[in-house]
Amino acid sequence: MTAVPLDAVRRERVLQEAVRRRLLDPEQSLLAAFVDLDGVAATVRALHDAFPGSPEVRGVLHTFAAKANCLVPVLAELAGHGMGCEVATAGELARALAAGFPAERIVFDSPAKTRAELERALELGVAVNADSFQELERIDGLLGGRVPASRIGVRLNCQVGGGAIAAMSTATSTSKFGVPLTDPGNRERLMRAFDTYPWLSWVHTHTGSQGCPLDLMARGVAQAVEFADQVTAAFGEGRIAGIDIGGGLPVNFADDEVTPTFGMYVEQLRAHAPRLFEGGYAVVTEFGRSLLAKNGFMAAYVEYTKSAGGRPIAVTHAGVQVATRTVFSPDAWPLRIEAHDPSGTAKRGRPVRQDIAGPACFAGDLLARDRALPALEPGDLVVVPDTGAYYFSTPFRYNSLPEPAVYGVRTDADGGVAFTVVRPAQDPWQLSEQDGVDPLSQDPVPVRAGDAR
Ligand SMILES: *Cc1c(COP(=O)(O)O)cnc(C)c1O
Repeated sequence: MTAVPLDAVRRERVLQEAVRRRLLDPEQSLLAAFVDLDGVAATVRALHDAFPGSPEVRGVLHTFAAKANCLVPVLAELAGHGMGCEVATAGELARALAAGFPAERIVFDSPAKTRAELERALELGVAVNADSFQELERIDGLLGGRVPASRIGVRLNCQVGGGAIAAMSTATSTSKFGVPLTDPGNRERLMRAFDTYPWLSWVHTHTGSQGCPLDLMARGVAQAVEFADQVTAAFGEGRIAGIDIGGGLPVNFADDEVTPTFGMYVEQLRAHAPRLFEGGYAVVTEFGRSLLAKNGFMAAYVEYTKSAGGRPIAVTHAGVQVATRTVFSPDAWPLRIEAHDPSGTAKRGRPVRQDIAGPACFAGDLLARDRALPALEPGDLVVVPDTGAYYFSTPFRYNSLPEPAVYGVRTDADGGVAFTVVRPAQDPWQLSEQDGVDPLSQDPVPVRAGDAR
């Protein structure tokens, strides 16, 4: 089935169908999220088409950054499309394995890998990118002279500068990630590391995420390629097996257009780092947001409406628990909102400036301020597009708000909408079971060996 893009028309169609099947219900199911699995497949195809070569022919492995959407069925879908997976914690590694990624297609990045995590990764043959000189030493100790099955690289902070969002910029001069390439003495120290550690054969860099212009990202990659060339010149062809260029392609949150495209980024890479594509190095990518963001949306009921100081406010069931970044940092992470009636049909009334609030108990819990939308009423639905990455999949536990259900959406053979469960809704009445009190006796649960993991 060819994918219909997840635009306003398709969102409306999915929403109507979700209401009809009571996946959204004003009494039972106040908030739900949707991942367009056809769209995900099309986006993966676009990624494969944009980069020259493929895993089979030229050693290009595209991994998905699990933190962008770590739900196992989503990861399994990506594994099925031939992707690999970039993980940064034991939890993400566990989910990637559960999703069926073969170990050799998993890349483990993190600035804080423990000994136990590294041991496990090396045992599995998962690729590892060391974040610091100390970590390189630790890996050397763990290997104890063994030849690892894992590809092992070192992350470089190419220090090319930051983008528009400071918290998303990983290549500033003082970023916490990687070995700062331009700090005095570090190039020499890195060269010595390649001289000392025969198992070290990859170079990794990730300049940043949303807010970084393409040419900044490409200039970061160019620095990594230039360093790889320096290692090759010193120690011979083949000493560097490959370059992991990270992810970070920004996403357009303003409308339904997919821009920038993977193709536009590849053009920038060709301009700034032409040697990346000359065949001397295998390539790994680690895109997250650009693969999932536009293939997901959430929808929530409006519970009440009111007016305060002349400003209309719609109180909805989607707020900080599913839109944490937008709520705490609204200028960096603006989201679109679409107004729908209780049947899921888009409202077409005259736009009125209103606040779209969430359910949490603090004043800043707003999805949008002063936003011109058809007047919302209790029982209406708000749709929040572009939230397939880093939103509902990464919930925030404030106010004991439960995690909403997530549904996979596909177009079936008759052109209809088919849903699958990606994550069931959390039952708020069961949240207390995770706390240290026996729910039956109300007694505190004693600490046993192993509880402190
Ligand atoms: C977060 C992250 C990514 C993915 O970034 P996106 O902006 O989602 O593409 C890739 N690599 C590393 C090391 C990361 O930390």
